Amino acid sequence: MEEPRHPISGIDYPGTFQEFDEWFSSEEACLEYVAKLRWPNGFRCPGCGFNTDKPSLMGRGLFLCRECKRQTSITAGTLFHGTHKPLRMWFLAMWFVTSQKHGASALGLQRVLGLGSYNTAWTWLHRLRRAMVRPERHRLSGAIEVDETYVGGVGVKVPGRGAKRKAIVAIAAEVRGRGPGRIRMSVIADVSAASLHEFVSNNVQKGAEVRTDGWKGYNGIDALGYRHVVTNLSASEDPAHVLMPRVHLVASLLDRWWLGIHQGAIRPSHLEYYLDEFTFRFNRRSSRARGLLFYRLMEQALTCTPMSRQMIIGGRNLHLVDG
Ligand SMILES: [Zn+2]
Repeated sequence: MEEPRHPISGIDYPGTFQEFDEWFSSEEACLEYVAKLRWPNGFRCPGCGFNTDKPSLMGRGLFLCRECKRQTSITAGTLFHGTHKPLRMWFLAMWFVTSQKHGASALGLQRVLGLGSYNTAWTWLHRLRRAMVRPERHRLSGAIEVDETYVGGVGVKVPGRGAKRKAIVAIAAEVRGRGPGRIRMSVIADVSAASLHEFVSNNVQKGAEVRTDGWKGYNGIDALGYRHVVTNLSASEDPAHVLMPRVHLVASLLDRWWLGIHQGAIRPSHLEYYLDEFTFRFNRRSSRARGLLFYRLMEQALTCTPMSRQMIIGGRNLHLVDG
């Protein structure tokens, strides 16, 4: 991926927290940054098409078109749409989230921002997680390992629940040298052919080589346009982690992350979003610059669909199995 470059400073994101603090010292500076990213070729009025390098800022984050007098909100149609909190706080939240190696907890965010309410911090984190998935993201390519794992203890904090409930998560990992390249993960209802085929179709480019174990749910993958390579675990002397090393590495990192930062206490309907956050970090793990991760999240925050609190609390439907 191409590194972002600013024509004057040479770089488009702050490198350290000190720089961050200097760049985004005021609400106006944050608005300017958003405007620059949204309209890199100058502001274009959505009403009349008038294009200018020097749009008139009216306050309250509105641009005034000199031609047709239409007012355009700089944050309309972005993650920040309709927020009552200063943009600077959102920027701080994004810096915090992207600079935590293993992700951020709502409690941590609440402390850093000095938010009065845990619920607000929680909602903000979920909004940011929504921005971590690019709708147009490219499917995995080359050779890909695909397998399922059980994410443990979903909803264990619910009292009176008998057996621990587990969610099934499908994982796909690109083979890049000895390690994994990019990954994709998704909660699946079951390990049927219908579920697994759908996961592969949604996440892997046609023509790619798909490596799986001998589970019958993967049968017929080749008919979908993939080169299916089956490694039969039972017929082999090698333990599973040697045959599918990349997927197993990802699964164990996911497990550790899950038990570490979130203590396994994630509401089942939100698991998919935590997987999105894990994937966002994992696929950008080679970006050594913290600022670059912040910048990527910002880019995506400006193009994602705004969400109401109710939509966030609702989460997605999730299937659980006893385990
Ligand atoms: Zn106009």
